Amino acid sequence: MQAVQLIAHGKPGQFQLHDLPDPKPAVGEVVAQVFACGLNHLDLWLEEGGLPLPIPLPRTPGCEIAGAILATGEGVRDWKRGDRVAVQSNIFCGQCEYCSHGEESLCLNSQMVGVERDGGFAEQVVVPERALAELPHNVDFVTSAALTLAGSTAMHMLTSRATVRAGDWVLVIGASSGVGSAAIQIARQLGARVIATASSREKQDLALKLGAEHVVNTNNESWPAEVRKITSKHGVNLVVEHIGGKVLEQAFNCLARGGAVVACGATAGREVMLNLWPFFVKEHRLIGSYGRNRVDLKRTLEWAAAGKLLPVVHRIFPLAETPRAFAALRERTVLGKLVMRTSSA
Ligand SMILES: [Zn+2]
Repeated sequence: MQAVQLIAHGKPGQFQLHDLPDPKPAVGEVVAQVFACGLNHLDLWLEEGGLPLPIPLPRTPGCEIAGAILATGEGVRDWKRGDRVAVQSNIFCGQCEYCSHGEESLCLNSQMVGVERDGGFAEQVVVPERALAELPHNVDFVTSAALTLAGSTAMHMLTSRATVRAGDWVLVIGASSGVGSAAIQIARQLGARVIATASSREKQDLALKLGAEHVVNTNNESWPAEVRKITSKHGVNLVVEHIGGKVLEQAFNCLARGGAVVACGATAGREVMLNLWPFFVKEHRLIGSYGRNRVDLKRTLEWAAAGKLLPVVHRIFPLAETPRAFAALRERTVLGKLVMRTSSA
């Protein structure tokens, strides 16, 4: 099979496309033919060596995998060749105290596919059967590859970690990202009024098209004041945040009394300053959110099948253009998702 491998850290773009032996499934595993795989900021961190974990190289990236089962290992009973599947990227053990409560995002033995084991920038991938979710018949591989990770991350934030009530104001940071573009749609489906942040005209237009009522430009330093003005000084009930750094600090200036910031990432900085006086006086909350649970992934795919959650696909690349795809994501001009087409359907 053809597979992309990251061969070195240190400078961007050190990928090679190789012919590798087809993988074999061990007990409880399946081999899937990968048809599409989304690109995520996590992949950039893998490329940069910017994750706080050791990454043995070479490594095949790709954590947002959609495909069909080619072969099943011993003991696999619930899946058969040809089944169309999405892969839950945070591969969980299914046995620890958290997994036993359905809290796979907190699994004590979790493994990120495409980071800690080879991922979906390849024609085939091997994963444990417990990581599979069935694709609804009307959800195609590209849609799945654009929503499985980013969409279910947003679903986890808005429906499992935080609560959104009809009529709430929700501020979505980074409208044009995978998480942001899904979060706008999910918040709207939950009955919220959405304000989004975006830094260019194209990104602002996308946010409005996805259902945001207002868009503020984060290049304008006073954007939190603008958010307060839009909400008649009330502030927003929830901020969906995945940038970190200064943006997370400013997000608290947008909050209503009793409001919460739910945060799932830190692309702009992992260390922040927080003024604790307004934090406790206004009974604010900061909620961490990591990955997703089965329930979030299944809901994401159900909503995609029902047309309630649409993928925003900026561009599809062949495997041979992996370095170009990474460069495009790094430039931050992408609207929605980049997806790799890994095998022809
Ligand atoms: Zn576990």
